[in-house]
Amino acid sequence: MSNPAPLVDPFQRAISYLRVSVTDRCDFRCVYCMSENMTFLPKKELLTLEELDRMCSAFVRLGVSKLRITGGEPLVRREIMTFFRSMSRHLDSGALEELTLTTNGSQLSRFADDLFAAGVRRVNVSLDTLDEDKFARVTRWGRLPQVLKGIDAAQAAGLRVKINVVALKGFNEEELFSLADWCASRDMDLTFIEVMPMGDLGGEDRVGQYWSLDDLQAQLASRFTLTDLPERTGGPARYVRVEETGQKIGLITPLTHNFCESCNRVRLTCTGELFMCLGQEDNADLRSALRGSEADAPLEEAIRRAISLKPKGHDFDYSRQKADGQVSRHMSHTGG
Ligand code: SAM
Ligand code: SF4
Repeated sequence: MSNPAPLVDPFQRAISYLRVSVTDRCDFRCVYCMSENMTFLPKKELLTLEELDRMCSAFVRLGVSKLRITGGEPLVRREIMTFFRSMSRHLDSGALEELTLTTNGSQLSRFADDLFAAGVRRVNVSLDTLDEDKFARVTRWGRLPQVLKGIDAAQAAGLRVKINVVALKGFNEEELFSLADWCASRDMDLTFIEVMPMGDLGGEDRVGQYWSLDDLQAQLASRFTLTDLPERTGGPARYVRVEETGQKIGLITPLTHNFCESCNRVRLTCTGELFMCLGQEDNADLRSALRGSEADAPLEEAIRRAISLKPKGHDFDYSRQKADGQVSRHMSHTGG
C-alpha cells in the first residue's frame, strides 16, 4: 500500500497526535469538570469499540503516530482492554510510536498489567491533592487510597507515571511542595494544569478557581532554582527543571502563554466528532462518514477535510476578570 500524504493543516502544522475520548462517563465528579448530576449520552450515540478501532486506524494510516486514550474515565468503558489490545497491532507494525492514556487512576490496580501487555508504557494520572478529605471534596465521588493503590500497581507493572494536578486557588496552593516532593520521591513526572473554562458547571466560580501558573512558578522559584527547558511536545506544556533535584515539572498554561502555533493534535469524542481545537466549538462529524460506507476512503476524505479547517488557535482569556472564550461542552466530552 502506498503511503498517503500526511495530515497538514492550513497553518502548516503536521497533525501527528490524536486524543480519543472513549466514553463521557466517569466514576468521579470533579468539581471543575462535571456537575454532580450529569446526563450522559445514550449508549447508541457512542462509537462501538470496533468503530473506534476503524476510526483510530484511519488516523494512523494518515500519519498519526501518537494516540492518547481519555474520557470521561477511559477505564470504566466496558471491554476497553479489547480496544487497547487491538490498537497494539499498530505499535507492533511501527506505525504508532506511542499508545497512552489519561486516567483518574481508580481502576488502575485492575488494569495496569493488561495495559503494559498491550504496549502502553506511560500513563498520566490526575490527582490534585494528597489529603484524603480534600480529595473526596474535589472529586466528589473519589477515594484517595484506591487511586494510590492504582498508582502503585501501575509502577509495579512497569508503567511510567506522570501526575497531572489542576492548580486550584485556595485548594491545593499549600500542597505545591508536598506534591513536588512526593512525585520526586517516587520518580514520577509532574505537570500542573491551569483550570480552563469548559462546560457549565452550575455556578462554579471559574475566575475564583483560577491560579495562574506564573504565580505557581514564582512560588516554586522561592525554594528551588528553576531552569526553563527548550523541550516542547507540540502541546500546551512547557517544562522547567528543578536544579536541586533534577526533577522536571510541566506547566500547562493555555491562558497565560499561548501554545497554538506549535499545536500538532486533534481530539475525537466518543460519538465520533472531531474537534480540531480544544478551545473552539467547530467540529466535524466523522461518525456519518464512518457509518456511511464500509470502505475507508470516505472516512479518510472526511478526516482530511476536517484538518483543512483546523483553526489557528483558541480564544480563552481571563484578563478581563471573567471567563472569556468559554466553550459550552465539558472537558469529559472532548477528552482532556
Ligand atoms: N478521567 C480522566 C482523568 O481525570 O485523568 C481523563 C479525562 S479528564 C477530562 C482529563 C484531564 O482534564 C484531567 O487531568 C483533568 O484534571 C483535566 N480537566 C478536567 N476539567 C478541566 C478544566 N476545566 N480545566 C483544566 N483541566 C481540566
Ligand atoms: Fe472524571 Fe477525569 Fe472529569 Fe474527574 S477530570 S470528573 S476523573 S473525567
